[in-house]
Amino acid sequence: MSDTCATCTGMCCYDVIVRVTGYDAWRIKQAQALQFEQFLTAGPDEPAGQGAFLLGSERRALYLGKNAANERACTFLMHLPDGFRRCGIYAERPTVCTVYPMTFTNGSVALRADVRCKAANWNMATITYPYWRRNLLEHLFESHVYGIVAERWNETGGKNGGTLPGYFAHVERCFDSIDALRSEIGKESFDDLILHWQQPAAEGDAQGRVADFLNEISSICAR
Ligand code: SF4
Ligand code: SF4
Repeated sequence: MSDTCATCTGMCCYDVIVRVTGYDAWRIKQAQALQFEQFLTAGPDEPAGQGAFLLGSERRALYLGKNAANERACTFLMHLPDGFRRCGIYAERPTVCTVYPMTFTNGSVALRADVRCKAANWNMATITYPYWRRNLLEHLFESHVYGIVAERWNETGGKNGGTLPGYFAHVERCFDSIDALRSEIGKESFDDLILHWQQPAAEGDAQGRVADFLNEISSICAR
């Protein structure tokens, strides 16, 4: 957590629709011993993005549910007695949460224009750029991977009258295998792959390893 967030009341976890990737959902399910149905909703794919899946003719996306204690808050937001709020799944929070409130602007780490806290709270001269850059690249990478997983479903189960439990089973099966593949590659190599996956041809070796990984998951999820 940044120093800025440490004294905040967690406004970014209110009144927002948190769209998650399949790997976010899989990690949370594993770590919290939950069922997907207990923390996810399948809402319309609006605005259209990666990881949209078909249930019949409708394109849906996965979102975190809302909090039983406050319907404006994320289901995982903890309301503490001192008035502060904390993420209840901080170590496993979705990558879209790990990148907030930064974005890439022309390839550089920058503060989002629609930041919910005071922009003045974020001194861009003192932030840890490699930390934010890595998180942003990871978010883009996971979104891309999840797009492949959803497309494999759309080619088969989705358009054949697939159900939400059927889609959850597809996500679980794919990410069981993808997580095993990541373990095989090893954390250090996988981080290196994430850091280089969008770099141009000069990084030929990394590009080749990314292509191999993406082809492998495409094949796994088509089975
Ligand atoms: S990102 Fe902004 S709104 Fe969210 S916890 Fe940090 S300071 Fe607060
Ligand atoms: S998962 Fe955590 S960080 Fe993300 S919106 Fe929910 S409470 Fe906030």
